Amino acid sequence: MKIFAIGRNYAEHAKELNNPLPSEPVVFMMPITCIIQRNKPFFYPDFSNDIHHEVELVLKISKAGKNVQEKFAKRYYQQIGVGIDFTARDLQKKAKESGLPWEKAKAFDGAAPLGTFIDKDHFNDLGDISFNLEINGIEVQKGNSGDMIFPFDQLISYVSKFFSLQIGDLLFTGTPAGVGPVKIGDRLEAFIEGESLLNFAVK
Ligand code: ZN
Repeated sequence: MKIFAIGRNYAEHAKELNNPLPSEPVVFMMPITCIIQRNKPFFYPDFSNDIHHEVELVLKISKAGKNVQEKFAKRYYQQIGVGIDFTARDLQKKAKESGLPWEKAKAFDGAAPLGTFIDKDHFNDLGDISFNLEINGIEVQKGNSGDMIFPFDQLISYVSKFFSLQIGDLLFTGTPAGVGPVKIGDRLEAFIEGESLLNFAVK
C-alpha cells in the first residue's frame, strides 16, 4: 500500500505560496507511517516550528492498474474521503531553496490524518464536491473538486503511468487556498458536503 499526493492542484493555493501553476501534476509520495486514523491525535513534531494544515480530498484505489486511460479512470476508485497533508513549512522552504527532496517536510510520521470514506456513488457530480476544514470551530479552508487544475481522472491516469496502482493505495488530491499553521491544543474537523468525517486534536 502506498500514498500518492499532489502538490499545487488549486490555482489559488499555488498563488498563496508563490508557486507557478504546474503544466503537469506535481506528484510526491508518503509512507504508510504518515497515516493517522480513527481520530487519533496528531503529535506536533519537535523538528518543526511551522506545521501547516492542508485539507484534501482523498481517493482510495479499488482496482489494480497501470497506464490507466483517463476515460476508464473512474473504475479505479470507489471511495472518496478527506485527509490532512500536514507540512513542515519551515523544512519545506529550506528544501525548496536548495532544490532538495520534500520528504522530511511532508512524509514524517503522522503527517496524514485520514477520515472516514464515502462511496463515490453517493455524489451526483464528482466534479462538484465541496469540502472544508475548521480549526476550533472556525472555517479556515474550503474547496471544491471543480476547482482542481487536474481533476480526479486525470490524476489517476497520470500517476499510473509511473506507478502501478494497487488496491488500497491512497491519492491525496491537493489542497485549496487557506493553508496555515496549527498549534498544540487545536482541534481540527474536516467535512465533505457538510458531513463531518475527521475530527482530531493536535497534542
Ligand atoms: Zn498537500
